Amino acid sequence: MPINDHMYRVLMIDMERSNISKDEPVTLEEFRSSLIRTTGSDLGLNDVKWMSRFGNATRQAGRYRNGRLFLAGDSAHIHFPAGGQGMNVGLQEAMNLGWKLAGAIKGWAPDWLLNSYHAERFPWNTALLRNTEVQTLLLDVTPLSLNFEAC
Ligand SMILES: Cc1cc2nc3c(=O)[nH]c(=O)nc-3n(C[C@H](O)[C@H](O)[C@H](O)COP(=O)(O)OP(=O)(O)OC[C@H]3O[C@@H](n4cnc5c(N)ncnc54)[C@H](O)[C@@H]3O)c2cc1C
Repeated sequence: MPINDHMYRVLMIDMERSNISKDEPVTLEEFRSSLIRTTGSDLGLNDVKWMSRFGNATRQAGRYRNGRLFLAGDSAHIHFPAGGQGMNVGLQEAMNLGWKLAGAIKGWAPDWLLNSYHAERFPWNTALLRNTEVQTLLLDVTPLSLNFEAC
């Protein structure tokens, strides 16, 4: 994915490395070797700015509100980044909660309004987690053997 004319973001799943701890730093050698094994090329990799590992843990807080504490975004739910949805739903939570908090601070919000945040967002995100779990299952096939030159 191009970030600008000279920089690209490369995101990959290497089934042979899928049991590595998310906290183990990625090395350039590891990434290059995964790229070559998966695509047949290192895609001209050089001058790398940033690398990280991600996992497929799927978790959701049972309650998005506890008194004056509210959870939104990845603090409320995490999932495999299938479909590019995590930031989007976090922003939707900010939209849902922001005006309700303003109402509570300004004194016009009824008591039930802040509770409607969890009631409205939790079911959507439960469906989102099922969606990403199914997408993960579909991806989890015997080692993919993509050949970019052949595409
Ligand atoms: C590979 C990958 C690709 C993705 N692609 C997409 C995509 O295309 N579209 C999409 O919508 N989503 C995507 N996501 C998901 C998205 O990145 C996350 O859902 C989103 O960044 C979560 O935002 P957040 O603000 O809730 O949490 P975070 O981005 O995790 O922000 C939390 C911040 O809190 C800071 N912090 C933690 N502890 C403390 C502390 N004690 N004190 C102060 N600060 C602290 C952290 O340093 C961090 O900056 C992707 C995720 C991954 C892993």
